[in-house]
Amino acid sequence: MLIKAPKGTKDILPDEIVNWQIIEQKANEVFSKANFKEIRTPIFEETSLFERGVGDTTDIVNKEMYTFIKSDRSLTLRPENTAGAVRAYLEHNFFRESPPVKFWYKGPMFRYERPQAGRQRQFHQIGVEMFGIQDASADAEVILLASEFLKSLGLNDLTVEINSLGCNKCRAEYKENLKKAIAPFLDGLCEDCKSRYEKNPLRILDCKNEDCIRLFEENNLKNSVSGIKLCDECSNHYKQLKEYLDILNIKYEENTFLVRGLDYYTKTVFEIKSNNLGSQNAVCGGGRYDGLVETLGGVHTPAVGWAMGVERLNSLIGKIQDNKIDYFVVSDNKQEALKLTYKLRACGFSAEFDYNSRKFIKQLEKASKIAKFAIILGEDEIKNNYLSVKNMETSEQTRETFEDLVK
Ligand SMILES: [Zn+2]
Ligand SMILES: [Zn+2]
Repeated sequence: MLIKAPKGTKDILPDEIVNWQIIEQKANEVFSKANFKEIRTPIFEETSLFERGVGDTTDIVNKEMYTFIKSDRSLTLRPENTAGAVRAYLEHNFFRESPPVKFWYKGPMFRYERPQAGRQRQFHQIGVEMFGIQDASADAEVILLASEFLKSLGLNDLTVEINSLGCNKCRAEYKENLKKAIAPFLDGLCEDCKSRYEKNPLRILDCKNEDCIRLFEENNLKNSVSGIKLCDECSNHYKQLKEYLDILNIKYEENTFLVRGLDYYTKTVFEIKSNNLGSQNAVCGGGRYDGLVETLGGVHTPAVGWAMGVERLNSLIGKIQDNKIDYFVVSDNKQEALKLTYKLRACGFSAEFDYNSRKFIKQLEKASKIAKFAIILGEDEIKNNYLSVKNMETSEQTRETFEDLVK
């Protein structure tokens, strides 16, 4: 029996890798311009980091973590990267630097979910985190950054949805109202919602269970509770964010029921949807998490960030065809072919030759599959010191010296 990749994981094959490389390269370009520095944190962390950092009322922590014990320590494959980034921020004393501290990251994350189209158990995220700035200009900055990054990948038709969840103070009253509105039909809701009801009723609005969604609609939940009544500070912050977005010319829609699936958000939350390919797809989600650094043992530090799923991005940008090498050297003289191949590589081109010196026709077939140009190096070419260069797309053939070619 052949062993296959585990359920929910996927090989990214050489044929697909160009897209990934371009996405990562654009991320580096766009984020570097804004002075975000890449950070790479471990794939696994102490389990308690996620229990404290992601929140023990979330599906991620309750059901989806890959946790294992080694030497009596409970470790978990990271289900997301914000908790790890905050841990690193504290562990390496970044809080001593003058704010802001700006990180970006990329890499695999792990959640034990039912695999479905576009959802893997090992999936990849790219994200940014910005520490130390309370002002809404930081929220606007990360939203702008996400939008610039998506545009660099050709995703221009974007919708930004924003909301403010307020602080603990202004959320308390809303939670009570929400609980009152839900109480009459609480019995019909799923087990998750029942346990969220006491621990974190806001998250009920986020439930994906079909029965729950139907009950919300039947009971007109969204109309019976208006949005969160923000305190003066939170309301000002939200107003300022909208002003910044206006100035930056970023179109947004307010969605008072946008709550996001994580416990740590405060004030701003947002989602960016791409309208490419006809239907709306959420490609980016994030928000402010002013309490998280403190929750993980640091001093109070405002912070804001977002994450994007790379698999989703990848499916939206379509296949980028660009993995052909520049030159394939066609020759029955292996020594000359090898020499020329290395000379081409030294001049910055990608090049290969036929390791088996097969018939010219076979070599040309191979060239047409993997290279933009074939360089034919036959007896005459070697004797008279020139190259026959064939464009594999147009079949046009020219006679050139090596010097002309590399120019
Ligand atoms: Zn508030
Ligand atoms: Zn539910």
